[in-house]
Amino acid sequence: MSMAADSVAVTSVPLVSLYDSGEVYAATTFRGLSKADDAYSGFSLCHYVGDEASHWQQCRDELASCLGISADMVVVPRQTHSARVAVVDSVPVDSRDIDGVDAVVTALQGVAVGVNTADCLPLLLCDEKAGVVCAVHAGWRGTVGGVVENAVDCMVRAGASAGDIHGFIAPHIGVCCFEVGDEVACRFHPEDVVHLADEKPHVNLSAAVVRILVSKGVPRENITDIGECTRCRSDRYFSARALGVASGRNFSFIIKQALNR
Ligand SMILES: [Zn+2]
Repeated sequence: MSMAADSVAVTSVPLVSLYDSGEVYAATTFRGLSKADDAYSGFSLCHYVGDEASHWQQCRDELASCLGISADMVVVPRQTHSARVAVVDSVPVDSRDIDGVDAVVTALQGVAVGVNTADCLPLLLCDEKAGVVCAVHAGWRGTVGGVVENAVDCMVRAGASAGDIHGFIAPHIGVCCFEVGDEVACRFHPEDVVHLADEKPHVNLSAAVVRILVSKGVPRENITDIGECTRCRSDRYFSARALGVASGRNFSFIIKQALNR
């Protein structure tokens, strides 16, 4: 069974499914039909990046309807590249509880927790046995700052076992395009940095996140990366490097299916 497939057929939400067990669904939105040179054009539900409220609100309503939940069950933190994790254990969520956090954990049914990105790495985690899911915004700052470690620790406190966690890495800026300065490169494990001739170093964020997950006890074989680069595909995904930071965002989320579906 697939909640997404049914829903996509009746709505226009552009979704890439990352995981669907019937119990847990993870996906990312993409721009969909859009004017490539208009940085806000396309599906984006982020409320704090300068987009028109009527646009992000409508997109949020459409996603909620697609998932069969009300819009306030779509939990959208205001991210700040921090390493802070919020636990959602009651709904509706007070927006102050998800202001300045970059990962959200929940064990509630029918609540979609997600993160907005445009090049940063969205990581979705679940332990289906324990019924705990999590969305993580892992840009370079959050990654070196410990957001992935904190997210796993928070899931474990909520009842998950690291060995039972599965991880899904959504589209983000690939090593092909993630050129950084030496001051950023030196914060990463040397094996996660690529030096090309006569070029600045490139960071492999996906490799860095996988390394951290494995160090926390998540089995390597449980982790998958869809492998698309947002900057190479800025026609399809929002990319801050391609479009500027004043642009829309891709929303990557995970949800335990609502009981009534
Ligand atoms: Zn690329």
